This record gives sequence, C-alpha cells and structure tokens, in this order.
Amino acid sequence: MTIAVFPGSFDPLTNGHLDLITRASHLFDQLIVAVGQNTAKKGVFTPAERVAFIEQSIPDLPNVTVQIETGLTVAFMQQCHATVLIRGLRNSVDFEYEQGIAGMNHHLDAHIETVCLMADPQYQFVSSSLLREVAKFGGDLTTLVPVPVAQALAQRLGSDRP
Ligand code: ADP
Repeated sequence: MTIAVFPGSFDPLTNGHLDLITRASHLFDQLIVAVGQNTAKKGVFTPAERVAFIEQSIPDLPNVTVQIETGLTVAFMQQCHATVLIRGLRNSVDFEYEQGIAGMNHHLDAHIETVCLMADPQYQFVSSSLLREVAKFGGDLTTLVPVPVAQALAQRLGSDRP
C-alpha cells in the first residue's frame, strides 16, 4: 500500500489545490493532506480553519484525510509510513523552489520520493497569496475557491479594504 502526503500551507485552499488532491487520490492508496505553516508566510486562517475548509471540500474522496503538521515534513511522513510526497508545479518559479525542497527532503530521507503534478492550465495563475490580495479589494473569487472559502475570505479580508 502506498501512502502519499501532500503538504502545504493551504492558506486558504484553492481549486488548484483541490484539483491536485483529487488527482493524487486516484494515484495512491491513501493521501494525507498535511496542513503546515510555511515560516516565510504570514497566515490569515488558523491551521484548524484551513483543515475545516479542506474537509468540507473533499467529502467524495474516501482515501483522503487531513491533518495538521508541525515540524519537518519528512518526520511527519515517517510517522505516517508515507513514502510519496506530492507537490504541484505551476511554472518555472515553482520548479526551482520545489527542486530545492525535494533535494533537501531526499537528503533527509532517501526513501521519500517527491512526485510533482502539473497544475491544471485553468488554475496555473491561482495562488493563495494572490487570492488574499484580490479578496482585500473585493474581487470575485467564486470560480477559483470553494464557496465557503470565498465567503470566509470576503469576511476576513474584505473589511481591510482601503
Ligand atoms: P507552501 O507554502 O508549502 O508552498 P501552498 O499552499 O502555497 O503551500 O502550496 C502547496 C503546494 O500546492 C505547492 O506545491 C504549490 O506549488 C501547489 N499549488 C499551489 N497552488 C496551486 C495551483 N493553483 N495548482 C496546482 N498546484 C498548486
């Protein structure tokens, strides 16, 4: 049985993330979405809120679970007996970034294989950080994130509008 982990900030979950979760769930026996905190990024939603958004959005994927991850992803994966680390690639900037992380993770545990899935072209421009910016100015995000996420973004960030 192959267990895969998809780690990320998911602050918040986007339809691009959701597409990757769905596709990875078809490739592996079990998929654990690991909600962590990228120390370089300031969070808008708490880890528990981010987990809730993901759980609400994946009811039809029985082999997917969601957990909060603190610490090193490789340590989390060892605990879960996971051997595949899923990441997404939207463009060459993502590639450079993911190449470095994959190299470090391989150095830390050579049994872990990073598998990068190409972003669906319709979501290549979608990032949580850009969506947070658009939400601040009241832009319509309804086709880019699940409905509860769009509502929460508008509530949390819409009021920051200058
Ligand atoms: P992190 O802070 O760990 O990069 P993110 O939530 O920003 O967390 O991204 C998690 C993973 O999802 C990364 O591999 C990223 O490249 C990928 N990803 C982000 N947005 C998209 C998208 N629109 N389509 C496909 N993959 C994406």
